[in-house]
Amino acid sequence: MKKNLDKNTLAVHAGEYIDPITQGVNTPIFTSTAYNYIDIDFQYPRAQNTPNHKAVIEKLCALEKTEAGLMFGSGMGAISCVFLSMLSPGDHLVIQSEIYGGAYYFVVSELKRLKIDFSFVEDNADFESAIRPNTKLIYVESPSNPMLNIVDLRMIGELGKSNGILTAIDNTFATPINLNPIEFGIDIMIHSGSKYISGHSDIMCGVVLSSQKIIDSMFSTSMGLGSTINAQTCYLIERSLKTLAIRIERQSQNAFEIARFLEESDKFKGVRYPGLKSSPGHEIAKVQMKAFGAVVTFDPTTDSDEFVKRLNLIKPAMSLGGVESTITSPARTSHMKLSEDERQKIGLSDGTLRLSVGIENYQDLIDDLKQAIG
Ligand SMILES: *Cc1c(COP(=O)(O)O)cnc(C)c1O
Repeated sequence: MKKNLDKNTLAVHAGEYIDPITQGVNTPIFTSTAYNYIDIDFQYPRAQNTPNHKAVIEKLCALEKTEAGLMFGSGMGAISCVFLSMLSPGDHLVIQSEIYGGAYYFVVSELKRLKIDFSFVEDNADFESAIRPNTKLIYVESPSNPMLNIVDLRMIGELGKSNGILTAIDNTFATPINLNPIEFGIDIMIHSGSKYISGHSDIMCGVVLSSQKIIDSMFSTSMGLGSTINAQTCYLIERSLKTLAIRIERQSQNAFEIARFLEESDKFKGVRYPGLKSSPGHEIAKVQMKAFGAVVTFDPTTDSDEFVKRLNLIKPAMSLGGVESTITSPARTSHMKLSEDERQKIGLSDGTLRLSVGIENYQDLIDDLKQAIG
């Protein structure tokens, strides 16, 4: 597949497997978990080498402009495999302080137990001074969940290269459509595929994408952890990915319109969206992102729960990234394991809401927000 094709084209065609029997347009689902070991290369779904695994990984690699990848049973499966394959007792991790709650909790509980050291960094300016002689990995998330902070990826990429440290990003919120971190020198891209990659709130999966060399170095840990997926799920992900570009373009446009509406209304405050001039990191986001994603974070001026209950179209739901718009209270869901103090540090209040904007008509969504705030 030509590398210079547009992402709308790659999303549909990259990695496609033409079935030699029927020449059908879709990849057949290879359901077996038991294969002849005498006449063909060893295959076992946990080794991620069925044609269905390969089709998804090839498509994602084309979109993320990289060489190789691994699929996992969830985003946390991907994140934990990166940490456990890159870090050993005595090593040090530099990590952004405001990250997905599950990743934060894994670091402060599991990595701590394994005697892997870590430093949390709040500000772009503080990453360099956090590096120690035993630092092995710099880990960031941009835009971050839920406050949508923007990390300067060129700076992170250069820090990694000049210090011989691997760099990893959780690219879930931007997706490969809006951001290709590899262009800024980042080594490892992670996605919770349960969000935009699957896009219909019905699949759990995770992905790690990187160079062939780095993926090879993670392979045995991934085999050991065993957080893999079967071919049926791969097929559904492949189908979802065909509409990734068109979904993300529409969802990002919708989110921008809604963010503008929320910012102009005096009934909402603390509106965060990387596309707004008033949002932190806007200037960096403008340079490194194609569009600004489909999540908007804000505080209603009335009671948050009452506001959510009055919404008709937008549904209260814990996850994000589906074609339907959903809204959640991060303090009560994704970030509930953080203490009051830790939440305050990242600027997350009890009333803060995170809106995941879907593919509906944006004016209908704005009308729903209007009637609910009264
Ligand atoms: C949801 C999420 C994860 C975790 O993914 P799961 O598929 O739920 O394990 C990781 N990072 C971000 C940014 C997420 O939103």
